[in-house]
Amino acid sequence: MTGSPLSDHRDGPRDECGVFGIYAPGHDVSRLAYFALYALQHRGQESAGIAAADRGGYVITQRALGLVSQVFKEHDLRALGGELAIGHVRYSTTGSNEWENSQPVHRSAGSGGNQRELALAHNGNLINAVELHAEMRERGIAFSSTSDSEIIAALLASHPAATIEDAIADVVPRLHGAFSTVVMTKDRVLAFRDPAGVRPLVLGRLGDRYCVASESCALDIIGAEYLRDVQPGELVSLGEDGIRTRQIVEGARQAFCVFEYIYFARPDSKMHGTVLQAARGRMGEVLAREAPAPEADLVIAVPDSGNAAARGYARASGLPQDDGFVKNRYVARTFIQPGQELRKHGLRLKFNPLPEIVGGQRLVVVDDSIVRGNTTRQIIQMLRDAGALEVHLRISAPPIRNPCHYGVDMHTREEMVAHGRTVEEIAEHLGADSLAYLSLAGVYEAVNGERGEHCDACFSGDYPLAGTEEAQGKFSLEQTLPLVRAGA
Ligand code: SF4
Repeated sequence: MTGSPLSDHRDGPRDECGVFGIYAPGHDVSRLAYFALYALQHRGQESAGIAAADRGGYVITQRALGLVSQVFKEHDLRALGGELAIGHVRYSTTGSNEWENSQPVHRSAGSGGNQRELALAHNGNLINAVELHAEMRERGIAFSSTSDSEIIAALLASHPAATIEDAIADVVPRLHGAFSTVVMTKDRVLAFRDPAGVRPLVLGRLGDRYCVASESCALDIIGAEYLRDVQPGELVSLGEDGIRTRQIVEGARQAFCVFEYIYFARPDSKMHGTVLQAARGRMGEVLAREAPAPEADLVIAVPDSGNAAARGYARASGLPQDDGFVKNRYVARTFIQPGQELRKHGLRLKFNPLPEIVGGQRLVVVDDSIVRGNTTRQIIQMLRDAGALEVHLRISAPPIRNPCHYGVDMHTREEMVAHGRTVEEIAEHLGADSLAYLSLAGVYEAVNGERGEHCDACFSGDYPLAGTEEAQGKFSLEQTLPLVRAGA
């Protein structure tokens, strides 16, 4: 394992970001935003932020590094107040983990009656960020961060259109890549999604008011009703007049991230009409059909990521299932490092195998993905140390062999355990008696989806958005351009 064993036990792809927006005079919108972000915490653990305003008043933003529960205290929410709010949780995908790159981004441009002040939060990644950044700097526009979100905010704040909706309609076709975005002005909350709809965004209703969120689990926690997904290329505008919608870009090839079903989103979220817990269970069922392990005695999951697929595998195979590990749920994120003495125990801080259950057993071990494989190798060794006779690894996704350019930090090809290895070689590298992955066709069967409407580039190498191959990756803005302080 590299890096902190406590902060990243999965050694998997890092979750991207989560966004939320609400227009709801009469409600405690900052508190609603807080709890919505709390539900979206799995999408980003590096920073959190909320921007709020009373209609026509100032936009107040608070953001900091850390978890939602660390960033906001009771007095912060009282100070934010407001009638409309947006929020963001972040895992860095563009730019490093610095305060300047936390969100919501706050920008204002113009003066007097022509001033436009806004806050913006974004999930995704622009593949033409470097070009847009250079073009805007030539126009004399300064930036305070290296995040592509600030580029979108600057384009909108400085746009001459009379309304924010018209500004968004003009700017969106110039953005290439993945962007599920929420924007707040002094009197409206706006949400828009890239034409391919790579990242999720849903629309909800709270009484007679409306809200948007990355996932439906954020609506559940605040008592809002899920209405529908925001459509790819659609702009939704929430204000005193209720909801206005507008299709900005029509007819683009859709490319919803298939990894959202497999890994990123919370199992209680609904995507394209499917509750993910059920979809992940079906992945396990298809996996059992595609890759049976007839000699095995018992199915166990790598908790919690493999839980649903392991249940599906056991259901379809007829094998018994049990918990092979106990997981400590309270070390998901600690800033205390284990130190030399504890480091040798590695993953035991997170997972403790149960020798009474796995000892003497031929195990099917189910997880949802492998990226670098370091954690998986340790898990297999722990099971053998606990007395397991055989370990047959079953993964409810295909091998990951390609980086993501659409908002997920997926390492370089060379770091991926499947890069340049056959499945047999991966099994040997990990120390498994056998290894099998779910096929791509099996994924689409389980989610009941069409391949032509999804992105599966990290598995297949087929990038659905034009210009992706030229994208320069996570630190492209930092490598290409000096950090320029706004107002300097
Ligand atoms: S490359 Fe993989 S993680 Fe990235 S958007 Fe496509 S399917 Fe999702």
